[in-house]
Amino acid sequence: MRGVPEILAPAGNLEKLKVAVLYGADAVYLGGQKFSLRSAADNFTENELREGVQFAHANGALVYVVLNAFFHDKDFLELPRFIELLDELRVDAVIVSDLGVIEMVKKYRIDKSSIDIHLSTQTSCLNVESAKLWKRQGVTRIVLGREVSIEEAKKIKHQAEIEVEMFIHGSMCMSYSGNCVISNYTQGRDSNRGGCAHSCRFEYEMNFSNFNNIKNRKNFFMSSKDLNGIRLMKQFIENGINSIKVEGRMKSHHYAGTVTKVYKDALDYYKKNGDFLSEDLKRWDLELQKVSHREYSEANLVEVAGSETIYNERENEITDYVVAGVVVEVVPDKFLLIEVKSHFSPGEVLELVPFDEETQSIECYWVKTFDNILIEKTNPGTLVKIPYNPFAKELNLIRRKLNQ
Ligand code: SF4
Repeated sequence: MRGVPEILAPAGNLEKLKVAVLYGADAVYLGGQKFSLRSAADNFTENELREGVQFAHANGALVYVVLNAFFHDKDFLELPRFIELLDELRVDAVIVSDLGVIEMVKKYRIDKSSIDIHLSTQTSCLNVESAKLWKRQGVTRIVLGREVSIEEAKKIKHQAEIEVEMFIHGSMCMSYSGNCVISNYTQGRDSNRGGCAHSCRFEYEMNFSNFNNIKNRKNFFMSSKDLNGIRLMKQFIENGINSIKVEGRMKSHHYAGTVTKVYKDALDYYKKNGDFLSEDLKRWDLELQKVSHREYSEANLVEVAGSETIYNERENEITDYVVAGVVVEVVPDKFLLIEVKSHFSPGEVLELVPFDEETQSIECYWVKTFDNILIEKTNPGTLVKIPYNPFAKELNLIRRKLNQ
């Protein structure tokens, strides 16, 4: 049986790291307080990083730390100490986009085997010769640009003899992965230093004055659909892609858990059966419809993306389900104690998302406070008790359909 790719999930904070790992991520990627491209994500303090690495390793998952901001000289001052810290914590790899940073990692890590260097997608590596050059610089894995197809990725992997990682799910960027300054100039936020305001998703007005019949049409003409590669899982596996990556460090617990579980289930299914049935692919696709997303597309995974990948109807994401809470404690035959993430009320039907089983309905006919007082509506951040479900485990997600 052919090996399957690693599932690499986003960890926007410590709790999301735990959720992603428990739902089946083989590896997670995260940012420290500096040097990564998601300044709006919660990002990890030193203590959280320590706990996150310990938790991931104890559960068999690897941790990659993102150092892919575009560096100016002053940014290098604190980098040596941070690299030494990552080494001390036994972080498995760093994701880097700058040659100077690669040099610093090589200089300050304990030895070659201590921290691997992965090339960030920000570098837009799209061909064999470029991959060979990065390999000579000490890179062990290329996170390929989103403009590369699965076929091209296979060629790069074999001819450059290097690991390749590809995005399989999540938001897209309208530029060559982040190499864009619209946000800098229109919002004063630097896309390549963690501040992208997603300006490409805004509504713009085009003046078609050179055309007779179309004038001042408003449109979201730079807003990309989201990537969804579930129907191409077999190609990812059979072309030997080493790692499939889920975008979204700033997205919810629901997203981190559900998307990771879907791709993990699909890979486990392939390991057991050696192929996919179309009804299984449809079932997983339906699950992926439940997380917040724009319309989906396969972008460049098979053919070069065209205008069909533009999400030009409205700016907002489609959100049918939200996470109602996260299980904090299971008291068998009595109740589940959950930390509330969004409002819900007694009488609603909730869904438990177990780590290894199918989704389970929970008829939430009562909700009580921690002190056993019945309540009519929950408040985010509080702890509440809801009816017991035998499939529940600590850190399971409980979600609710909107507009019940
Ligand atoms: S504004 Fe859009 S195109 Fe520019 S970096 Fe951000 S996501 Fe990419």
